[in-house]
Amino acid sequence: MEKTYHGSCHCGAIRYRATLDLAAGTGKCNCTYCSKIRNWSARATDFELLDGEALLGDYGKDWGEGNIHHRFCSRCGVNLYGHGYIAEAGGGFVSVLVNTLDDASIDELVSGPVRHADGRHDNWMNPPADTRAM
Ligand SMILES: [Zn+2]
Repeated sequence: MEKTYHGSCHCGAIRYRATLDLAAGTGKCNCTYCSKIRNWSARATDFELLDGEALLGDYGKDWGEGNIHHRFCSRCGVNLYGHGYIAEAGGGFVSVLVNTLDDASIDELVSGPVRHADGRHDNWMNPPADTRAM
């Protein structure tokens, strides 16, 4: 069931509100960036940045037909969400790092399936052979 949650970085400068359905599942990805931060995320159907835009970092990549922007707090370094457009992964998206949600219970976080994406090989809809370190 969709629910609206609140999220923030560690120092509290960045705050957001996101609507998502955790029971529909969360995702982990093995692309070179997600591996570094152990990205565990879920798609948001609605997203609003509430505070901290001036401190919001944008580490992005644009390859013409698609783009991805990893957003993080430039003060405390916590990664909060990503947005972009990847045709192979269903088009435009906003996904939040579920560990930055402040009001989601552990039961809610694990209520859905965890999908593993082989982003490292642009094979977003399928899991990689080895998911142990994801
Ligand atoms: Zn911060």
